[in-house]
Amino acid sequence: MPQYYIWTIGCQMNKAESERLGSYLEQLGYQPTPAADEADLVVLNSCVVRQSAESRVINKLYSLQSLQMSRPGVTLAVTGCLVDSEVDQLKKDFPQVDYRFKPGDYPQWLEKAELRPVLPQHPAPSSFVPIIQGCNNFCAYCIVPYRRGRERSRPLKEITGEVKELVHHGVKEVTLLGQNVDSYGHDLPDKPDLADLLTELNTIEGLARIRFLTNHPKDMSTKLIAAIAYLDKVCELICLPAQSGNNDILKAMRRGYTVERYHQLITQIRSKIPGVALSTDVIVGFPSESNQQFQQTVNLLSELRFDTVHVAVYSPRPRTIASRQFEDNIPLAEKRERLDIIEQLQESIAAEINARLLDQTIEILVEGRKKGKWQGRTRSGKLVFFNNNNDCSGQLTKIRIEKTSPWSLQGKVESNSTN
Ligand code: SF4
Repeated sequence: MPQYYIWTIGCQMNKAESERLGSYLEQLGYQPTPAADEADLVVLNSCVVRQSAESRVINKLYSLQSLQMSRPGVTLAVTGCLVDSEVDQLKKDFPQVDYRFKPGDYPQWLEKAELRPVLPQHPAPSSFVPIIQGCNNFCAYCIVPYRRGRERSRPLKEITGEVKELVHHGVKEVTLLGQNVDSYGHDLPDKPDLADLLTELNTIEGLARIRFLTNHPKDMSTKLIAAIAYLDKVCELICLPAQSGNNDILKAMRRGYTVERYHQLITQIRSKIPGVALSTDVIVGFPSESNQQFQQTVNLLSELRFDTVHVAVYSPRPRTIASRQFEDNIPLAEKRERLDIIEQLQESIAAEINARLLDQTIEILVEGRKKGKWQGRTRSGKLVFFNNNNDCSGQLTKIRIEKTSPWSLQGKVESNSTN
């Protein structure tokens, strides 16, 4: 039986695509293998959002090309954000690659096989469901609109049908994915929005939890906040990238909101959704970001106290507005220092937030095992580890928290809510 190996880097959208591609391949008779050097077909699902990710992709491509030279029968395919309109350059740089296809554009050898819709055949208890592809925003630093194209929403009925089928296969939780989920539906005939979609999904029997990411501060509506507060299956976790705590930097980034508006939105969310967990993204070292402007970002994070902060060092990406208009003039050492400051601050904030959960009993959805322990997540997205000799996978389980850290929690089983 032929074997396939998929190497994935990047966002959840890529992980969802890889899951689906794997299912397609299994329908064609391929078996997954964890080792590239045993595979007959190797697919590299790439990300080039940051320079560091692109460098890892390029290194991986070189190593896969050498593998292919030592085993000439291996088929090598590349997908993800590395594959854009400049495919000819990619062909020139990596002539050993047999197939190059854009995200979601499955190559002919898959299409011709007339397979069933692309759904994971052995989905995890918690599965990703893409609802909108692409982005229309053109934030100054971001390569996504150039690589993933303009926004394309999937019809509401198609998504609900897919979620029902996933639930039929044992899925308990879905995470709806989009570069900007707040844009969902504007390009569809009836113009449903994310709140409408959540309302529809909330009625699906057997589905326990619904998550979604990523939101955009300029587009998040009062209607959506009310829906999150009202719908019992929708989890209290919102990912709302701030990117900077300075209005001039936000303007140069073309984010479309001010720091004041961002504060207002967080206040509104916290007042309507008690116990909500908030996650944000921040970029440090954007062109000409002064120490004072950086300090305003630090202040924003200290004041708003997020559960999670993803911080990235600015790196110019080809074709983006920032790379064309601004000089990348903050030294790398300075950028790294700023990143460290934010990571240290966030570590202490997250430690304090998580410490409040000590001795509490919290329901988690068990996703699987890692390093000999079961792991699952709370509705607010916190990672919890525990020991148990039984098979707990896919169960909603009540855990008494015995130990906390900035990154995860540990505890012991109190009871199972479902089997
Ligand atoms: S909203 Fe901005 S940062 Fe997010 S994907 Fe679109 S262009 Fe990129």
